[in-house]
Amino acid sequence: MKKYLLLTLGGLLAVASSGQTEFQTDSTIIRSIYSEVLANGECYGNLRVLCKDIGARLSGSPEADQAIAWGKDLLESYGFENVHTEEVLVPHWTRGSTEYGYYESGGVKYTTNVTALGGSVGCQGEISGQVIEVKNFEELEVLGREKVQGKIVLFNRPMDPLLINTGAAYGGANNQRGRGASEAAKYGAIGALVRSLTHALDTFPHTGGMYYEEGIGKIPALAISTVHASELSHALEKDPNLTYTMNLSCKLYDDVIQANVIGEIRGTELPDEYIVVGGHLDSWDIGEGAHDDGAGIVQSIEVLRAIKALGIPLKRTLRVVLFINEENGNNGGKTYAANVEEFGLKHYAAIESDAGGFSPRGFRIEGNDEQYELFQSWENLFEPYSVHQFRRGFSGVDIRPLKNDTIALFGLIPDGQRYFDYHHSNQDIFENVNRRELELGAATIASLVYLLDARGW
Ligand SMILES: [Zn+2]
Repeated sequence: MKKYLLLTLGGLLAVASSGQTEFQTDSTIIRSIYSEVLANGECYGNLRVLCKDIGARLSGSPEADQAIAWGKDLLESYGFENVHTEEVLVPHWTRGSTEYGYYESGGVKYTTNVTALGGSVGCQGEISGQVIEVKNFEELEVLGREKVQGKIVLFNRPMDPLLINTGAAYGGANNQRGRGASEAAKYGAIGALVRSLTHALDTFPHTGGMYYEEGIGKIPALAISTVHASELSHALEKDPNLTYTMNLSCKLYDDVIQANVIGEIRGTELPDEYIVVGGHLDSWDIGEGAHDDGAGIVQSIEVLRAIKALGIPLKRTLRVVLFINEENGNNGGKTYAANVEEFGLKHYAAIESDAGGFSPRGFRIEGNDEQYELFQSWENLFEPYSVHQFRRGFSGVDIRPLKNDTIALFGLIPDGQRYFDYHHSNQDIFENVNRRELELGAATIASLVYLLDARGW
């Protein structure tokens, strides 16, 4: 017996038919969803297993295979229907065991904390050179080949601390990480060092995807901790001729087949229309992928568990999709959308959680005016839970390929102030996720699923 369960299915239906307004009925059902997740939620325990028994799970790795098997077993253990995997071709890159960088100035050696950017080429032994520091690609262009040739470029533009939306600050700085190496190589640089994308001033380097431009020579690229990027910058002011030495042993192998994992609760009236909840099962290869995106995975599974436990009848089929390969290719999201298209599966709405397991604050929607207006009208229902941001904006990388004229896409907005402290670093571990905040996020998504199905367009 679930001792905290406030309302049974019978109770819910009685409430629904007792002459209450829709608002009262919806409020009662949403309250029961939050109560179920806060009292009986299993997402935190599931996150512990994913983080501690499997850990980091970059696409192509054996750990990603383990995560796929874990996900499928878990969905089956909950008795979800049509549990299956969907094959996805993913890249297989490894950082290898060698990874360091240091500088020497005045006969003293200073170690810097670094981590290879995902997708970087390795070095054939140590490479050394003078360092040229820039804040952006425009400065690099002004310096030109004359000043850059044969050197290591330090991209040292911090995330803008004045932006309240940390995602926007991240977006404003991440072209250094994504394209810095190729931009530097255009002017003959031999290596790239990129300031870690975080507001935190600490010694943890943060990895993340980088991409080489076709036709440009590939040079190795390292993320450097914010503290060490700042120290190196100060050292350069005193000694512009100091030398930096780096070494890394990354390798790119042939693509391998991995999978998205899918499970369902079949709809009672419109089983051929789908509502998707999901996150990405892969993570970077350092830390445990706890916030990014273990949180989104276990929350999405919890949505189905809670709705099933409460016996809330859904007209449409609710699907959970554990997407693979968000971090370095998005092949899971692209493959899922391609199969939806090929098999003509009508997708009504999709919700992604991929911004950390912090206190939920609202959702962003990508949809038409009708969908947006209805969505906004639900804001009052979430007021008791401090969930109040109902606005337009980007939904999520994995579900975005589903976009068409009819589907509504949603991204959960958690509080983002601390997300980038952990993101893509060895600090993204289970211990840094708060149980209650994680559960509130799951309940918030489940409540939106209920509203979409019961009150949607
Ligand atoms: Zn993510």
